[in-house]
Amino acid sequence: MYACMALGSTLAMATAVAGGLPGSVDAAPPRFGTVVIDAGHGGGDHGASGPGGLLEKDVVLDVAERLARRLEREGLDVRLTRSNDAFVALDERTRLANEADADLFISIHANASTYRRVRGIETFFASPEATDEAARELAQAENLAFGSAAAKVSDGDPLLAILGDMLANEHLTASQEFARIAQQEIARVESAKSRGVKQAPFVVLMGVRMPAVLVEIGFLTNHGDARALAGDTERDRLARGLAEAVASFRQRQDARLGIAGAGGGR
Ligand SMILES: [Zn+2]
Repeated sequence: MYACMALGSTLAMATAVAGGLPGSVDAAPPRFGTVVIDAGHGGGDHGASGPGGLLEKDVVLDVAERLARRLEREGLDVRLTRSNDAFVALDERTRLANEADADLFISIHANASTYRRVRGIETFFASPEATDEAARELAQAENLAFGSAAAKVSDGDPLLAILGDMLANEHLTASQEFARIAQQEIARVESAKSRGVKQAPFVVLMGVRMPAVLVEIGFLTNHGDARALAGDTERDRLARGLAEAVASFRQRQDARLGIAGAGGGR
């Protein structure tokens, strides 16, 4: 009985994550044009917190909005999964991206550690298998915001692992490519310690049918990172770096489709 209930909730979760299965035959994909930016947390879900009441939900929303403004100036259609301090459920975030048929999904988060010296930026793409234990724990902590069923994804649930594999593989190469470009752009300055590109089972990435990454823009529990993230300079630097990464990825994606003058505006 208990097993049945567990299976039931797993399947419900799987449906919420998948939002319908991929595989429909589409016409030739159009030119790269739509980006969904997902600011983590919101409302009663504060995410990580740092000194002086600095909250992840506020920092990531501000960076998301700065990035959105830059991408709009590049002529891209930009959608934000939230544009105010409200909690948005997992299926609303993924549905917005899937219904917009977006070309790229960028989830923005800030990190926390029990060790105050841990700092730096890391970029993730989805995989049922985490790069390491720390990545698995991070995905579990971030997934927990969407409820206990979502957190199970990072616990190696076999059904969800299969589903996640299927969803993540479709855009695995492109997600990995954008993750690499993004990490390079935002973590190349000396002051920003790069923790590299990693994989972990983030439910929000597993639920979208497009290249998708999750960027952890620094540790609010680290004094240096928190101080930087509290200010305009670092938030702008992150938004600029991500915008440059999008421009470069856009050019590659359009070039792949044989679109001439890719990335040169419209
Ligand atoms: Zn977060």
